[in-house]
This record gives sequence, structure tokens and C-alpha cells, in this order.
Amino acid sequence: MSVLVLNAGSSTLKYSLFVGRSTELAAEGIIEESTEDAAKDAATAILAAIHDDTASDPVVAVGHRVVHGGRVFLESVSIDARVLEEIARLSELAPLHNPPALAAIGAARKAIPGVPHIAVFDTAFYADLPPERHVYALPYEWYSENGIRRYGFHGISHAYCAGRAAEFLGRPLEGLRIVTCHLGNGCSATATLGGKAVATTMGFTPLEGLVMGSRAGSVDPGILLHVMERMGLSARELGEILQRHSGLLGVSGVSSDFRTVHEAAKDGNERARLALSIYADSVRGAIGALTVALGGVDAVVFTAGVGENAAPLREEVCRGLDCLGLRLDPVLNRTLRPDADLSAANSSGRILVLHTREDLHIAREALRLSGGIESGG
Ligand code: ADP
Repeated sequence: MSVLVLNAGSSTLKYSLFVGRSTELAAEGIIEESTEDAAKDAATAILAAIHDDTASDPVVAVGHRVVHGGRVFLESVSIDARVLEEIARLSELAPLHNPPALAAIGAARKAIPGVPHIAVFDTAFYADLPPERHVYALPYEWYSENGIRRYGFHGISHAYCAGRAAEFLGRPLEGLRIVTCHLGNGCSATATLGGKAVATTMGFTPLEGLVMGSRAGSVDPGILLHVMERMGLSARELGEILQRHSGLLGVSGVSSDFRTVHEAAKDGNERARLALSIYADSVRGAIGALTVALGGVDAVVFTAGVGENAAPLREEVCRGLDCLGLRLDPVLNRTLRPDADLSAANSSGRILVLHTREDLHIAREALRLSGGIESGG
């Protein structure tokens, strides 16, 4: 019995196959495709191959990552025609992400019929954010009538990491105050209390919050009005700049890739150094704000491409966290690989580096919803 997980993003389709309750992958792969049709073809090909390979080990459930569940999907759900319609409707809020997910779901349901297909949403983890953390201080009707609110993103990764942190520390999730920092191409941080998200940095869209590879993160909205008026930029042009030409790339002029910017900074590129300082400062500030939201912090988690690998970045971020009693051990930070505890003996909270496993979280959800089978590890 196996569980297939499909993660169709804006430019890639990732798949993972788990056997039974195992946390080990039986197969995984990534297809670099950017169009919806290509995603559909790729999904069909992957499914055919997996189907042949596992003829004696049938797929009992398929888990699909869906970025935007809006206000409709507050938890994972078994996919039917109505669910598909709603996900399509929500494409308006996630034009880059929901359409490829729909294409992959369509292909997968054709290739593997007769088993539950489960949608797991990135936004669902934030369904219960308190009102003061999901309502913007804008005209209230925008919220009540137009759905303009903080949705939050990367929820699958943050939910997995919060659970994993508790498991790693051998402490019950109950009452545990955790700040998870997902630092990849997109970056966000989330405060979790007892396994529930209580505050997060991403907002109505994944543009808000931390500085990212090519996204600006939070900026003064007055700047946007100013450049629209003074430079005559259209909303579309401005969106392109905020999405693809800002962040590490915008400031450094070198790259949106953290490693490349870090190399340039080491070679003496001043703008690359500045970009990294702004980036680290935004992560540090978010940890501070989220710690206040929690009334203290038991563990800070670094995860995703940058969080898991960039020891100098973790060091720079933590250099400013002394005031919260958080102290990194510089030697552990440079030598240990995820999953690991990097905190110094005299740190009041733990500082962890964890390998995010969005696929595993989706597989567990798919198993749970397809027959109430609890996942082992
Ligand atoms: P995505 O958000 O697309 O899933 P990832 O989580 O893979 O992205 O993160 C990609 C980022 O991780 C890139 O900026 C890349 O430079 C950075 N990264 C990957 N490996 C390293 C490394 N060894 N050191 C520093 N940064 C790294």
C-alpha cells in the first residue's frame, strides 16, 4: 500500500511516493515544466511509470499540494467535483499556483481512479489566526465583502516543522511556543502555539513579510503609489518588479539565489553585502515580533534551502537575538546538519535546523483522510 504526493508549483512538478506508513521515500522526482499542459503531460507520465513499478503495491491515496484554499478550505479535503470548482475559483487569488495544481489533479484522477485524492492547502494552517492578526487596518468592507485578509502561505512546511520540532525535542506540542523560519526562494516566518499558527508574516499574497530571493517583502505602500504616479508604472509592471526584480536580486543586482549573492559578497561586492544584511535584518525582526506574539519562545526553527544550509546567515540573524535569551553555538551551527539543535548551553530557547518535509506532511494528511490511518512517524 503506498501514498503518492504531487506538488505542482508555478514552474515544477514534484512527486514523492511513500510505502505504507513509512517516512522513507520509495521514489521521488522533479519535472521542470512551466506550462499547464506540460504539467498535465508530466503528471500522466509520472503516474503511468509509478503505476507499473508498484503493480503489487497499489497506491491507496494521492495527496495534492494546493497553495490557496481561501476561506473555503480550512483543512485538508477529499477532492470531488465541487472541490475542483472551488479550487478553480480560487485561482483568482493564486494565478501562478492553483491552475497547475488543478491540471495535476485532473491528470492524476484519470491515471489513478477509484482512490481518494486529497487536497492539502498551504493556507489552511492559518484558518484560526486571531482577528487582529488577519484583518488589515483598511476599510472593513474590503475584508467582509471582498475577502481581503491575511491568508498566510507555506503552511504545510510550517505545520510540519512545528510538529517535528516538538518530536525532535521530545516535548509535547501542547503549550510549546515555536517560531519557524522558512527561508527558500520564498521566505516566511510563523508563530505556532501548541501546534496552531497564531501569527505569520505572509499576507493576502505571498509578497508580504520577509525579504525574499526576488520578492520585496513588506515595503511602505506609499512607495508603490509614488512610483506608479511618478514613473507611470502600470499595476502589471509594478507586480512584475515586486515579484521578480526585488529582494536579494533587486538590491544586489547579482542574483535572486542566496548562494550566488553570498559568493559575490565574499568577493567584496558591497551591494551584495547590503542585500544580505537587509535580508538577515528582516528575519531577525520577524523572530522578534513573532516571539512577542507568543509571549516568549521555546524554539526557533530554520528550514528550507537557505535556512537549512546557510550557516553564516543563521549566525548573523542570531547575533541580534541575545536580547531574547537566544544563543547560537557557532561551532554546532557550522558543523551540524539538519535535523539538529544548534543552541548554546546557556540559551533560554532552542535554536533548531530542520529539514522541511512538505511531502511527508501531505502524505500523512492523505492517509489520515483516506481511511483514518494514523501515521507512525
Ligand atoms: P524553494 O522555495 O523554491 O523550494 P529552496 O527551499 O530550495 O527553494 O531554497 C532555494 C534557496 O536556497 C536558494 O536561494 C539557494 O541559493 C539556497 N541554498 C541552497 N543550498 C544552499 C547552500 N548550501 N548555502 C546557501 N544557500 C543555499
